[in-house]
Amino acid sequence: MSAESKITKDKNKNLVVPDYPVIPFIEGDGIGPDIWSATKLVIDNAVSKAFDNTKKISWLEVFIGEKGHEKTGEYISDAALETIKSHIVAIKGPLTTPVGKGFRSLNVTIRQKLDLFACIRPVKYIDPVPSPMKFPDKIDMVVFRENTEDLYAGIEWESGSDDALKLSDFLRNEMGANLPDMPGIGIKPISEKNTKRLVASAILYAIDNKLKSVTLMHKGNIMKFTEGAFAKWGYEVAEEKFQDLTISEKILFEKYDGKCPDGKIIIKDRIADMLFQQVLLRPEEYDVIATPNLNGDYISDALAAQVGGLGMAPGANIGETAVFEATHGTAPKYAGQDKVNPGSLILSGTMMLEYMGWNKASDLIKFALQETIKQGFVTYDLARQIQGATEVKCSVFAEKIVENINK
Ligand code: NAP
Repeated sequence: MSAESKITKDKNKNLVVPDYPVIPFIEGDGIGPDIWSATKLVIDNAVSKAFDNTKKISWLEVFIGEKGHEKTGEYISDAALETIKSHIVAIKGPLTTPVGKGFRSLNVTIRQKLDLFACIRPVKYIDPVPSPMKFPDKIDMVVFRENTEDLYAGIEWESGSDDALKLSDFLRNEMGANLPDMPGIGIKPISEKNTKRLVASAILYAIDNKLKSVTLMHKGNIMKFTEGAFAKWGYEVAEEKFQDLTISEKILFEKYDGKCPDGKIIIKDRIADMLFQQVLLRPEEYDVIATPNLNGDYISDALAAQVGGLGMAPGANIGETAVFEATHGTAPKYAGQDKVNPGSLILSGTMMLEYMGWNKASDLIKFALQETIKQGFVTYDLARQIQGATEVKCSVFAEKIVENINK
């Protein structure tokens, strides 16, 4: 057996994945331990089956969250973050935000400290998960949400505070702004550099996955210098870096009568409110959606609902390091009950395997997960929606998936 070793990058920044990679995991709080052990079982079995025991992940636990506090006295430590960074790829369960501990959220801290600038949320229907849509199988999109700026930068002042009064005086007196009395104030920074790296990664994803379009979702009709600039910089980076592989929708209609030339990805933009309608009415027209932080938060959860809810929605936060995570929270009322749906973390695991180039294992998991649901074995959340389904525990759901992997 070869020795286990870290994932590295070559001089072109491509991932080099050994057969026995060491991958850090954060179990997570609340339901984290339940969904993590289910996920680990499924991933390990899929890898072993897909590669005939020639590959195996060596898991390395990193203590962040309540377990971190118990073991080290810190909810999140520089050493834990350094371990994730030095291993390049990691996976995590949900984390409770400790109240009044000097940071907004452990998740936001991880994203900011590791500069995980893109939050990637694929949304695809898994038959027969109950969906409110008439044709849910038409939904197959990936949201690239900017993760580091916009109103999420956390620059805000409470109504009536000295700072809010000072700033509103300045805005009124020096900048001529028309403000109401005693406003609470939040700042919305959106930059060229961060927009361009996000949109470039969305275009690269579309190229790698042979998709047809990248849509820049924004509210630039109202917020011209932030959301409007996002769309402008998005088109610019497509032109600067991917000129041979992309075509703007404007040129498509001006020069090609709306018919996309072979090998080109269409770059288009849509006003946010309109896009919410379009993903309901004509979802098949959208593949990759690139958008600032707040829009991205809304559209990813709305799309997840269209395919049956957050329990099955996977996600990843990616920069130089990649952290794959369940998109729901710690659901504390179900902690330790072996009850909840591990689907979100398992599917985040499939994104991780694809990121590593281990698609064969990922495909096996996606197939086996769908088979398990088709056979009617589901956790409580789906059992209450699928007539005649058999409700099983979180661990049993994972075992059923493993049976289908090994069939
Ligand atoms: P939540 O933990 O996502 O739970 C809300 C509800 O969603 C649950 O009560 C349950 O609905 C359903 N749900 C969540 N996960 C599920 C699963 N795996 N299977 C089936 N159903 C599931 O949201 P919250 O209660 O607002 O947040 C709790 C804590 O999680 C907070 O401390 C929050 O800060 C944290 N959080 C962490 C993350 C993260 O780490 N990425 C994300 C969001 C929230 P029913 O009650 O209807 O069964």
